[in-house]
Amino acid sequence: MTLLSIQSLNVNYGYIQALRDVALHLDAGETVAAVGANGAGKSTLLRAVIGAVTPVAGVISFAGKDIGTLSAPQRVAEGIAMVPEGRQVFVSLTVEENLLVGMSARRDRDNHREDIDRIYERFPNLAERRHFEARVLSGGEQQMLAIGRALMARPRLLLLDEPSLGLSPAYVNRVYALLEDLQRQGMSMLLVEQNVTLALKLSNRAYVLELGRVALSGKSSDLMQSQRLREAYLGRET
Ligand code: ATP
Repeated sequence: MTLLSIQSLNVNYGYIQALRDVALHLDAGETVAAVGANGAGKSTLLRAVIGAVTPVAGVISFAGKDIGTLSAPQRVAEGIAMVPEGRQVFVSLTVEENLLVGMSARRDRDNHREDIDRIYERFPNLAERRHFEARVLSGGEQQMLAIGRALMARPRLLLLDEPSLGLSPAYVNRVYALLEDLQRQGMSMLLVEQNVTLALKLSNRAYVLELGRVALSGKSSDLMQSQRLREAYLGRET
């Protein structure tokens, strides 16, 4: 079943065209990656899906419904949650308060204790620090918290903007192990990454964005072998 379908998406910031005629689809249970250089339009793609920018043209459908006119909170209520770039946890709120914020746009708020406990089981570090302000967490722990907060919305689709950015290699591995876990449990994910190797390893399919256009797309395992992609990105990674 197609969960997310994007057609002819165009987004401008003033005179800058950030996305040009982008088409993308994601089936339920799939992990799809959008990769590309700085400024290629990856974050803009996620912002358009969650409703944080207004496209000048294009159609975005979620579970068969055109969501183009819905506000961001309405899209969260439909089942889309975003883990923003740079994590953006609320540093002066406690870990637990941050998780509760993630639930605010959810229609059904029963059983939230159960959801919080499930997240603590997944992230024992957060459980230990549940009553601490989020500012005391390490970058990796904040990333875990941002993912936990998004999961509190009980999403059907998780949008992840550069989850590896700025993390130590050990934490990158932990975050990706967690995403693999979610994938195994059937979560659908649209992942934006500058780290092409990581993104292609995790995802089933990927889209390569260049200057706001889809330059290449296909199965991640095929793209991993693509000469063009290797020349453009894989040599330059840290
Ligand atoms: P990065 O990895 O650096 O975040 P990206 O692929 O996510 O890059 P976007 O952030 O989507 O790219 O940016 C796409 C284009 O839109 C870039 O040219 C960028 O400078 C521009 N842009 C992004 N946000 C804004 C904004 N709020 N106002 C004006 N221009 C913007």
